[in-house]
Amino acid sequence: KGRNQFRAFTRELNESLYRRLMLRNELQTAMDQRDLQLYYQPFFTQTGQVCGYEALLRWEHPELGWISPQDFIAIAEQTGQIAELGRWVLWQACSDARQLVDARLMPGRVSVNLSPLQFYRGDFLLDLMGVLSETGLQARWLDLELTEGALMRDTQASIETLGRLVELGITTAIDDFGTGFSCLDYLQRLPVTRIKLDKVFIHAIDGHSGNAVVCKSVLALARELGLRVLAEGVETQAQYDYLVNLDCEVFQGFYFARPMPFSMFRELLLAGPEKPLLSTLSNGRSG
Ligand code: C2E
Ligand code: MG
Ligand code: MG
Ligand code: MG
Repeated sequence: KGRNQFRAFTRELNESLYRRLMLRNELQTAMDQRDLQLYYQPFFTQTGQVCGYEALLRWEHPELGWISPQDFIAIAEQTGQIAELGRWVLWQACSDARQLVDARLMPGRVSVNLSPLQFYRGDFLLDLMGVLSETGLQARWLDLELTEGALMRDTQASIETLGRLVELGITTAIDDFGTGFSCLDYLQRLPVTRIKLDKVFIHAIDGHSGNAVVCKSVLALARELGLRVLAEGVETQAQYDYLVNLDCEVFQGFYFARPMPFSMFRELLLAGPEKPLLSTLSNGRSG
């Protein structure tokens, strides 16, 4: 019996190992063949204006279909491929943003997600400045997102690097805020511009759980610390209304717009605020 269990265990292990090895190789091919894409999801103000947007990585595998960034980024972090992948994301996001700036369509900053492995590299800032000069994007159009966990890994290094970003004119946001058990003392010392309140708290708003209280408290805390707040994952009118009542200023979520390819995002910006997509927002909700 012990033997059988052992065999079952190794088979499972082999399968997960196999999948990881396979994905690693496939990811390399995707990077080489430029099969990866950036999608963009706008951020909205209370009046329905686009005030910034996030770049989100997409990979559609020819046989496996869409693979979640959460899955393949974890693999890229384990294999070290994240260095190349992360640089490509930064470059592509800045390059697309430069196009929007040239077309006078840039609605605000472009937010790019960073892996902690990118952020803590010794050559990170140099690399970042290289990307900005290659793409011709001014630093004032760039925002970088890091999770709480990433920033807390080495708080001293984080404070220093974030400080350098402030000097360069790049803003930063703490992603998935509220899920990482931040030490409030460090939070106060991190020179970040914004927190992105994690969607678990937003989704709990209409669930009558205590998390709605968390939303309220986090907004109050952020205000005390002089931080801006963006609510992630807003999916319903009820969530939106609740957040507006709490004076939350910036929103991101399927209720407003899903992540979309660059060409579509460009069209949305070209159409301007009168676009049908946003018409629901101006229906008696301006007050
Ligand atoms: P994230 O940075 O917190 O990104 C927000 C995620 O929430 C995105 O998932 C987005 O599609 C999703 N989302 C937006 N609005 C809603 C909504 O109303 N409801 C729900 N349920 N979800 C919503 P996505 O694109 O699957 O990305 C997942 C995570 O993968 C990201 O979370 C980020 O941590 C990571 N990621 C994505 N692109 C990159 C990248 O270029 N670099 C790095 N390092 N990480 C990335
Ligand atoms: Mg993010
Ligand atoms: Mg997030
Ligand atoms: Mg996330």
